[in-house]
Amino acid sequence: MTFIVGLTGGIGSGKSAAATLFEEFGAAVVDTDAIAHELTAPGGTAIAPIRAAFGDEVVAPNGALDRAAMRRKVFTDAQAKGRLEAILHPMIRAEADRRSAAARAPYVVLVVPLLVESGGYRSRVQRIAVVDCPEAVQVARVMSRSGLSAEEARAIMAAQVGREARLAVADDVIDNGGELAALRPQIEALHRRYLEMAAVS
Ligand code: ADP
Repeated sequence: MTFIVGLTGGIGSGKSAAATLFEEFGAAVVDTDAIAHELTAPGGTAIAPIRAAFGDEVVAPNGALDRAAMRRKVFTDAQAKGRLEAILHPMIRAEADRRSAAARAPYVVLVVPLLVESGGYRSRVQRIAVVDCPEAVQVARVMSRSGLSAEEARAIMAAQVGREARLAVADDVIDNGGELAALRPQIEALHRRYLEMAAVS
């Protein structure tokens, strides 16, 4: 069986930075956010069921999901978000399973931003690694990466579980409150442990 580590953390905590390092060390990285984008890109397999559920107006001329139009729908129709997730989430999970099973690496790092919030992934991973940093640092990183205001960054964070809840389910904690250079030795140490765990799993 493939040994799968779930990698999670709040927005801006440094999941992508950590995943890139795991990949450098030789892990296979499966990113659920990337899968979601592919499914809703032009020609993506989620487009047809989304069009059937919400109509042509949520599909852009290039055939991709029109995110702005979808956001407007979600804003005015309380059930739209749940219906969209009911289409997308099983497709994302199925594709994540497929990629994990096909991975040619000693183990898989499955990046799931909302791993703690969404029940479906806890049972898919043998171990949970949490990228952690103070919330003020998250806000600052999200602001500089995305040009969002502090209020917008905090609003996104408020829709995610808090730091303590995430740490409560962590098997391994990756401290990314400091410099980027401090990440590498932590990932290297975890990589060695995961290789050992994968070998006996
Ligand atoms: P996530 O994937 O969890 O949203 P990212 O890995 O994309 O987070 O990191 C968020 C932003 O902060 C990115 O612009 C990234 O380059 C930057 N970043 C990540 N870790 C650090 C760090 N230790 N020090 C400074 N900037 C960082």
